[in-house]
Amino acid sequence: MKTLEFSNGDKMHAIGLGTWKSTGSKVKKAVKDAIHAGYRHIDTAAAYGNEEEIGEALSEIFDEGEIFREDIFITSKLWNDSHAEGQVRPALEESLKKLKLDYLDLFLIHWPVAFRHGVEFPKKPEDYLTPEEAPIIETWKQMEKAKKDGLARHIGVSNFSDIKLKDLIAQATIKPEMNQVELHPLLQQDDLLKYCKSENIHITAYSPLGSGDRSDAMKGKDEPNLLEIKTIKEIARKHNASAGQILISWHAHRGNAAIPKSTSKEHIEENFKAASIELEDSDMKAIAKLDEHYRFITGNFFEEPSKGYEDIYDENS
Ligand code: NDP
Repeated sequence: MKTLEFSNGDKMHAIGLGTWKSTGSKVKKAVKDAIHAGYRHIDTAAAYGNEEEIGEALSEIFDEGEIFREDIFITSKLWNDSHAEGQVRPALEESLKKLKLDYLDLFLIHWPVAFRHGVEFPKKPEDYLTPEEAPIIETWKQMEKAKKDGLARHIGVSNFSDIKLKDLIAQATIKPEMNQVELHPLLQQDDLLKYCKSENIHITAYSPLGSGDRSDAMKGKDEPNLLEIKTIKEIARKHNASAGQILISWHAHRGNAAIPKSTSKEHIEENFKAASIELEDSDMKAIAKLDEHYRFITGNFFEEPSKGYEDIYDENS
């Protein structure tokens, strides 16, 4: 398995298990199936509402006595309602309690948007805190403290543009070590990747398979199906692999991590085996041509210009 290495030598598997929309007994089984299949990297978030079940799965795995806490890389994320002063540590402690862990391997600011405490999903402008009320640098300082206190081995961000990262880095003491963003052949984000590389910020690709089962409210009408792209299918045929495996393997070949979500044992195993695919230069060149700057997760559900949140990915700047 390819790994991403942090400056202190810690390593993270390039293929992890995503868990958004995985809940209850399904996510618990998925995590256990994944670890038994060889996964050592699990991605969750306070907002996914599944940390407790993931915690149960992990404890049961550790109780089996063959895999230990230090073997598994666990990422969780700070929800947007816990950015304000004094709120990061309690939120992190709550995640740790649910996960039954005493540290996270990676803790991320989920989105560059702040809500009032207790707001899960904003419905009106008053649900937001403005960037002046909850400056991202103040949230970041609390993330830095969590790292210094040993509650998170590594800290980073998610859904940050290069503009937002530059801003943060200019004021930060510890640089973000990770940016988790949407990435797949239709959204290749070369400039963001180049910038992150120049700052030694790792990249994790979310929605690598096109984010299958979102609620209708979050879906575009005629969304493309990544698994049906002709070029991807042709490359898959050549490597005797599935289209999903090619989509996953592509990230490792670009030096990034990917966290495909699945609750199906078959898919979980299939996705992990993508690690052994060796894409050729010609495959990478063919995939490079597919970029359409297409987002499945538009982020516009968090845009609220009256509160200072517009153009969340800074695409029109
Ligand atoms: P993915 O792109 O991982 O797609 C998941 C869908 O693909 C599911 O419907 C799944 O179904 C299906 N699937 C999985 N494996 C295969 C396969 N081999 N062949 C065919 N279909 C397959 O979507 P996500 O949006 O969930 O992204 C992955 C993870 O990234 C999330 O779960 C989350 O951890 C993270 N994420 C982070 C975000 C952020 O803001 N930081 C935003 C979005 C995601 P099935 O379960 O039946 O296999």
